[in-house]
Amino acid sequence: MSATAKQGLGRIGGLLKGRSARDVPQEAVIPEFRAQALLLFQDFEKSGIGWFWSTDGEGRLNYVSDCVAERHGRPREELIGQPFHKLFILERDEDDRIERTLPLILSARKTFSSLPVRGLTDDREVWWAISGRPQYDGAGNFTGYYGNGADVTDSRRSQRDASRMAMYDSLTGLSNRHRMDKRLTATLTAYKAAKRSCALLMVDLDRFKQVNDTLGHPAGDELLKQVAQRLQRIVPEGGEIGRLGGDEFQAILPDIDDRGRLGDIAKRVIEIVSQPYQIDGSRCVIGASVGIAIAPYDGADAEELVRSADLALYAAKGGGRGQFRFYSKDLHNEAERRRQIEEDLRDALAKRQLYLAYQPIVDVATNKVVCVEAVMRWLHPELGNVSPGVFIPIAEESNQIIAMGDWALKTACDAAMQLPGNVRMAVNVSPKQFANLGFPAVVAQALANSGLAPDRLELEVTESIFIADDDITDQTFKSLKILGVRLALDDFGTGYSALGYLKKADFNKIKIDQGFIRGVTEEGSRNIAIIKSIVSLAEGLNMTTTAEGIEAHDELETMQKLGVKQIQGFIYARPVVIEEVLEAMTSGEWVIEPNGPSKYRADRMTTFRKVGLIHEDHRYEGTMRNLSRTGCLIEGLLDVPLGVKFVIDLGEGQLAVAKVMRSADSMMGLEFEMPMVDDGAGGLCTRHRVSPYILAAAGMPATAQPMPNLAQQITLPRFASASDRAKPAR
Ligand code: C2E
Ligand code: MG
Ligand code: MG
Repeated sequence: MSATAKQGLGRIGGLLKGRSARDVPQEAVIPEFRAQALLLFQDFEKSGIGWFWSTDGEGRLNYVSDCVAERHGRPREELIGQPFHKLFILERDEDDRIERTLPLILSARKTFSSLPVRGLTDDREVWWAISGRPQYDGAGNFTGYYGNGADVTDSRRSQRDASRMAMYDSLTGLSNRHRMDKRLTATLTAYKAAKRSCALLMVDLDRFKQVNDTLGHPAGDELLKQVAQRLQRIVPEGGEIGRLGGDEFQAILPDIDDRGRLGDIAKRVIEIVSQPYQIDGSRCVIGASVGIAIAPYDGADAEELVRSADLALYAAKGGGRGQFRFYSKDLHNEAERRRQIEEDLRDALAKRQLYLAYQPIVDVATNKVVCVEAVMRWLHPELGNVSPGVFIPIAEESNQIIAMGDWALKTACDAAMQLPGNVRMAVNVSPKQFANLGFPAVVAQALANSGLAPDRLELEVTESIFIADDDITDQTFKSLKILGVRLALDDFGTGYSALGYLKKADFNKIKIDQGFIRGVTEEGSRNIAIIKSIVSLAEGLNMTTTAEGIEAHDELETMQKLGVKQIQGFIYARPVVIEEVLEAMTSGEWVIEPNGPSKYRADRMTTFRKVGLIHEDHRYEGTMRNLSRTGCLIEGLLDVPLGVKFVIDLGEGQLAVAKVMRSADSMMGLEFEMPMVDDGAGGLCTRHRVSPYILAAAGMPATAQPMPNLAQQITLPRFASASDRAKPAR
């Protein structure tokens, strides 16, 4: 036995001896019982069930069982003399913060029992439950601690596994709804006091259900895992991502209220989720929609913020998928409108509210119309014209698209028979129609009923028909080829374009999406090189190319230079009713001279929006006529001198400082001090908003409700600065 051990055992003797007569059994003080007790004690130590420790008055170890030294991988002598708490890791632990309190307890000389602490061991993780009692000498002076410990690693581990299971999603390993709720509530409560902001992103996968249905649930699970991995990579430091269930994910992003930055994060989420996946040797593609709400602007507590983010997500999905939306109070009306649309769409076809419009597709070398694309229109009795971008996704969700698509196909084939002999008719086909086994028969029927030659019909499909390498898809392609109709790959360049698709199916045409064309004339655009390679690949495979959405001459010239064969865009014509097409073609052909702006101006949008104009202590009303990232045109105030700075109140806490650069009559052009950012809905918004905390400080309620006007409303037709107003009236 080592000298230390002897010394320690001596102390144990002392331990027993030092107790009061009430504490210690009589037999313990009898020498032979003491020896027996010592043996039992040693045996107990050896068994590893528990261990003992004691310290001096300074808190330094003067005894500790050998097994503790073993666990530390150090000789016991090295531990003796060390402060007791140095045996443990006292940093904050993810699940348990209790060990932080140990030094406090020791310095306060308190008794403690079964305190869980993590051992500072070399390799494996060890947890102990330790107990200790302060000791005093006869004069009442503190002499140190006596105590014991027990290994609780196993029970702690199983406890932690159980709590992990309660906090984490077992499929993806991400936080589950419970943990996300807890974290959000805790963050928002703390942030309320600190007046900090926190963004909440709701992410929902588009077309996940289709993958699940076609490839099976195990494939769906695998897909969710891969999505989780991708999302984890892009959550900024300090943020947390969780899976709420199904295909719904959520991210908490503390201290971000910059809508420019949040928009970028949302775009990145959509982009990364939309990249193709490899699952069990199959390739599949999905998309994502994102809703964003920011505390305290859109909700001060967790429940309110989640509701706002959910509503924003609902709007993003309704806006045609693959989009993000910020919460705004207008979304309540939009949600109501969408519900109405969903309901009314059910009998739109029966009530003959649908019709087709036709947009010319022009041969760029001759300006001759070689094809028209039939696009569906819905004239709603109350809402007027509803955009296909809104109603087509709803129709797809409810499977109504199949009946609507069949109708479009039949109607377009009939219309095509009225066109001059060589002009083709293009019809959009939804992936839902395409996945239907009976689809080739529907096409054959439409051709037979109308008498249209098959090669005058061009079916436009998008890449999403390749969502699963499905036998039905292959079979449908074959049947359509046998029928002799032409096939066009529509919207090429959106998200996940894979040139491999082009070889898979025998397409006659690639339509380059307008999203890909936008910005092509900007300096340093990468799209030029990509379009060039699409064009040469298409030529190699004997396909023709159409560029969609050409509006300006600079875009048209670029497409010509790149060798694109056909153009579809407002520069030639918008979609028009069949009567107009027929009238233009009475001579047997339709030649259109391109007509549009010389340059595409991406971000200037016409608006008709009431705004507040705050100058010094006055608030005026104006109408915003157009808005770009850098400036706007506002009507409604006479004689404003150049250089005047206004604070423009765009509503909902959006204030922008702008300087008057041009002014004529009641119209003025202003330049923003800080550029606007994308609002996800094709519009623009301010990067930051006035915090409701500031409004609250000014005596206004800090809620997510509509922001009250900041200044008293005084409508003045003529601009006057404070100094002007101070002058006596002449
Ligand atoms: P798409 O098939 O890519 O059709 C082209 C869209 O681009 C049309 O929008 C057209 O109006 C628009 N466009 C053409 N040139 C320009 C331009 O220069 N500038 C701009 N800004 N836009 C231009 P539309 O009619 O709103 O249709 C949107 C989408 O709805 C279509 O995109 C198509 O995917 C879908 N869709 C329309 N009709 C049908 C249909 O009958 N069946 C199915 N399944 N989908 C349809
Ligand atoms: Mg199309
Ligand atoms: Mg398209």
